[in-house]
Amino acid sequence: MATTSKPKIPEPAFDPDAFRDFIATVDENGKRNWIHPKKPSGRFYRWRTIVSVVLLALLFIGPFLRYKGEPFLLFNILERKFIVFGITFWPQDFHLFVLAMITFFVFIVLFTVIFGRVWCGWACPQTIFMEMVFRKIEYWIEGDGNQQRKLDLAPWNGDKILKRGAKWLIFAAIAFLIGNLVMAYMIGTDELSKIVTESPGANWGKFTFVMIFSGIFFFVFTYFREQACIAVCPYGRLQGVLLGKDSIVVAYDWLRGEPRGKLKKQKAAEAAGEPHGDCIDCKMCVAVCPTGIDIRNGTQLECVNCTACIDACDSVMDKIGKPRGLVRYDSYNGIENKTPFRFTTRIIAYMVVLAALLGVLGFSLGGRTDVETTILRTPGMLYQTTDEGYISNLYNVQVINKTTEEFTVTLKLVEPASGRLKEVGQDLFVPSREIAKGAFFVEIPPDDLNGNKNKITVQVWSGDKLLDEVRTNFLGPIK
Ligand code: SF4
Ligand code: SF4
Repeated sequence: MATTSKPKIPEPAFDPDAFRDFIATVDENGKRNWIHPKKPSGRFYRWRTIVSVVLLALLFIGPFLRYKGEPFLLFNILERKFIVFGITFWPQDFHLFVLAMITFFVFIVLFTVIFGRVWCGWACPQTIFMEMVFRKIEYWIEGDGNQQRKLDLAPWNGDKILKRGAKWLIFAAIAFLIGNLVMAYMIGTDELSKIVTESPGANWGKFTFVMIFSGIFFFVFTYFREQACIAVCPYGRLQGVLLGKDSIVVAYDWLRGEPRGKLKKQKAAEAAGEPHGDCIDCKMCVAVCPTGIDIRNGTQLECVNCTACIDACDSVMDKIGKPRGLVRYDSYNGIENKTPFRFTTRIIAYMVVLAALLGVLGFSLGGRTDVETTILRTPGMLYQTTDEGYISNLYNVQVINKTTEEFTVTLKLVEPASGRLKEVGQDLFVPSREIAKGAFFVEIPPDDLNGNKNKITVQVWSGDKLLDEVRTNFLGPIK
């Protein structure tokens, strides 16, 4: 009797692109894989620490800087008041704000096309706080990555309660500090000190904002962590379209590293004159990665260019007596074709656009006036005829004072010369960085009018200083 053997199921072929089918922070059941990176060390980490200290110092000093008694930086979204480097921007300056944002966006695009995600690794507040503040505290309390993993799996005994409790308490305190810092940038330190010194009930609205911000930061740095970069940050998600083959990124030199293999295998291959690479598959570059990826798979969306894998691999290369730089800052073309950086057509095009935008922004900022006057005929009012036979129109005036000085303004009608201007009430007093509103009549002899549509010019003076000149419409009888 013939025996039938079961058909053999072929082994699935090795798929070098398999890493594209999952993300390191989620397991096959869709549950969170907690990343406990090994503590990085090396020259890049030292430099990043120095840069972080400087940037954090600037960030915390920022709200306390004053220029002529006013904050140097203020981003009051609630009252739509912005002070950037001592210059106050009003809602009327919104076009400048939009222009500055577009210019900044193009700058970011250009910067990313050339230097990849340098911003993410070196200057982004999320990375700096996460890797240089919260993570360092975590290493200090819970130990290195392996010890943190063990603590995760350990039952809730006294040691775990103590360590986790201390960590969360310190994290909550720092998150509260950052929450206050954000509010300081939004409402200024004077207002913030009121929240701090007075009872919460006296400023409950602002106090609630501080608590909300603190809660968000505690959640982000304690739980959400690298997910902010992987799943939320729009800049991170744009990398696929911004990066090109000439962009300089943290990259693994696959030509030098492959074929990879354990140190023994590499040495044996070397002795036998067989092909071998410099990568000894120690996975140190993976162990230190805060987003849990393997840089040897190429540029990935999750990579925040933190350079931890460069340091890790350099230390391995030092130990096995190979030159550093198996993982390094380089471009795809730099590795594949050994081509040095070059200005591509794409880069030149971005540079031209950026230069044009900077020109327009500079011109607009240069032409921005310290005083802005709006004069409009009072809505719903027609012209009137005075006892002396003049045609009279009533106007509303609004004067915005963008400076740190207060002044009183006088209005003068300069065209037509035969007309006269009569202010309603006193001259307008305009406090520093405030808006003043008033009303006035303009009276013109009927013979000097050209029908119902006429143009008049009003000057705004403070003492003997001309502040502004406005042209507006004057309504007369139809001829
Ligand atoms: S640290 Fe360097 S040698 Fe080790 S696996 Fe990564 S690339 Fe290879
Ligand atoms: S791959 Fe390297 S540079 Fe990228 S996030 Fe991981 S450790 Fe940082």
